[in-house]
Amino acid sequence: MKVKQKRVRIESTPLGRGVFSAERIRGGQIIGEVTGTVSHDPDTVGSEYCIELGGDMTLDPAPPFRFLNHSCQPNCELFTWEDEEEAKPGVPPRMLLQTLTTIRAGEELTIDYAWPADMAIPCGCQSSHCRGWIVDANELEKVPGRVRHV
Ligand SMILES: [Zn+2]
Repeated sequence: MKVKQKRVRIESTPLGRGVFSAERIRGGQIIGEVTGTVSHDPDTVGSEYCIELGGDMTLDPAPPFRFLNHSCQPNCELFTWEDEEEAKPGVPPRMLLQTLTTIRAGEELTIDYAWPADMAIPCGCQSSHCRGWIVDANELEKVPGRVRHV
């Protein structure tokens, strides 16, 4: 499958660099393929940006998608794509980024990092559904020292 990448820009945000769309993109559209360095050794995780690909494989993503920020109410998601004809043992699946909602030109692209509870850090995404932590929604109860909001 050939992927035609949408136009995106890297800009600075209060949380570091982020990826912004340069055009309006409808929901459910593929923005591009996340490329980078695949590692088969979970002990040599290259950077905080690493994405698990399943099995023992992690992907250390290259720009621009290296700089995707987390939101508890994201407008994009990552998914893996395995082409039946390309699939071979030990060959990593391809990682694609798609929109969940319509994105305006100039809007920041965000994904839900969905980290496990032991990796959780406080979240500053400012969405109205912010969980307070960058963590998988199902792991929120397990975050150590979490202050419950009532
Ligand atoms: Zn948040």
